[in-house]
Amino acid sequence: MIPFISPGATLGVMGGGQLGRMFVHAAQQMGYFVAVLDADPASPAGLVAQYHIQTDYLDEQGLAQLMQRTAAITTEFENVPARALVTLGAHRPVSPGGAAVAVCQDRLAEKAHFVRCGVPCAPHAAVERADQFAAVDEALFPGVLKTSRLGYDGKGQVRIATSAELEAAWTSLGQVPCVLEKMLPLAFEVSVIVARAASGRMVHFPVQHNLHRAGVLAVTQVPAPGVDEALAQQACAAAERIAESMGYVGVLCVEFFVLDDGSLVANEMAPRPHNSGHYSIDACDLSQFDLQVRAMTGAPLVEPRLHSPCVMLNLIGDLWFRDGDRERAPDWASVLELPGVHLHLYGKASARPGRKMGHLTVTAPTAAQAREVALQVAQRLGIEAF
Ligand code: ADP
Ligand code: MG
Repeated sequence: MIPFISPGATLGVMGGGQLGRMFVHAAQQMGYFVAVLDADPASPAGLVAQYHIQTDYLDEQGLAQLMQRTAAITTEFENVPARALVTLGAHRPVSPGGAAVAVCQDRLAEKAHFVRCGVPCAPHAAVERADQFAAVDEALFPGVLKTSRLGYDGKGQVRIATSAELEAAWTSLGQVPCVLEKMLPLAFEVSVIVARAASGRMVHFPVQHNLHRAGVLAVTQVPAPGVDEALAQQACAAAERIAESMGYVGVLCVEFFVLDDGSLVANEMAPRPHNSGHYSIDACDLSQFDLQVRAMTGAPLVEPRLHSPCVMLNLIGDLWFRDGDRERAPDWASVLELPGVHLHLYGKASARPGRKMGHLTVTAPTAAQAREVALQVAQRLGIEAF
């Protein structure tokens, strides 16, 4: 159990990206102070937190400072070395804990956990050494070869048509430990975000419908089109089982594939708030970041309620280069005049193609209206229609 840590205390977060920034905003709104640990002096969360410890994740002095300053610690970045969390966890409540984060950092461990929970995942095989190529089942082709660790936003993975391409693909990924997954016929993708307290109480957000482009989340719609009550219940129950059986504390996102035959397959999970849950800031009465604060401080967890149908559009750096090589901010005024538009920019100094610069959530009285306005926003900003 985590004894309730009252507002006025200082909370710590490992990582200073946009997820950390939105966590800082939620924590500060409730009257907490926040210390961010991130080496980047211009990190989005470091810019808005009361304290910014500018060291690497494994720097002993940095970790010691974070512990001295804070009453409880969380993470916003899933690749924080799990052992840094274990070190911190010996002295402060750390949620999620290092052991749970370690499972999420390794695609093989993650899949093994899904299987243990009775949740289907893609047929797969470990590809860790060249002498394993011959034994790989032909039924896994065409497939996707993914690095076991450190992949994100479609990076660290290659699609391969036949076993003849396996060696070249593995070499292109740096010959690191990988997982080969069978390419599945996706109808669409969804995710579920759960929050679990140290007491075991769990709450979840509604199922989110996610459209990825080039491996990066582009559009999230809630309520999720094409998801009936039975499928929603199946996804939420699976996400809760996955959290429960790890003894997870904090916010966890599970990404799923819905296949052409309607079946549900777990893809991967993230031990933190997730890009597909950003809509919750504007469309729910409690956001995923509010629940992250509550879970780590031992505050009661209350079921979040979607009060407005919504569409979230990711604002990727490419939108800053519509004129060619010269960086120019999109015409925000042209979209802020539309009803129900909530603009979130992460304070990143410069744009780069593929970089997540911000997001925008459109809320409306009906899903059809949210979609209609979001399509107008997309057209004005140069985002492909969905
Ligand atoms: P990342 O860590 O980069 O998000 P994912 O494993 O989620 O990696 O893969 C990114 C995207 O690639 C998925 O959201 C999905 O669109 C596609 N994808 C990944 N694995 C498969 C698969 N086995 N079959 C079909 N599509 C896949
Ligand atoms: Mg993913």
